[in-house]
Amino acid sequence: MEPIATTTAVTFDGHTATISGVRFSHMDHCTRCRNAITAHTDGGTIRAGIRAVTSTHRGRRSQALRWFWVNEPSGRPVAPPVCPNCGVERPNVVNRFTAYGPTPDPEAYDVLRTVWVTIRRDFPDVAAVADQNERGAR
Ligand SMILES: [Zn+2]
Repeated sequence: MEPIATTTAVTFDGHTATISGVRFSHMDHCTRCRNAITAHTDGGTIRAGIRAVTSTHRGRRSQALRWFWVNEPSGRPVAPPVCPNCGVERPNVVNRFTAYGPTPDPEAYDVLRTVWVTIRRDFPDVAAVADQNERGAR
């Protein structure tokens, strides 16, 4: 096991937050054995909170406050030196780790939870509007 990245930090800018230092898992498949290979990148970012999103419906543009969450890994991982499944050296992967995920480290989900709670506490009116728009989108 690789050590868990513990440099996660969160900064708020109004009702948006930036979580930095996030480790992401990226999954792909070995071209030789077809089994899954997982690799990591460190130092990624998650942006989350509430922002105004512009949409066009039947030619009419409108803006609405929406909850959002964007994963921004620091880059693409490199495959491990040896496939953990079939043992081939320098394994090739099918999609260069682009097809699945990326998935944030579980630690980042804990930080995200505090982001949602903090925004709801500090911006209850904005959160109420975003909740309303969430329901209206269904
Ligand atoms: Zn393999």
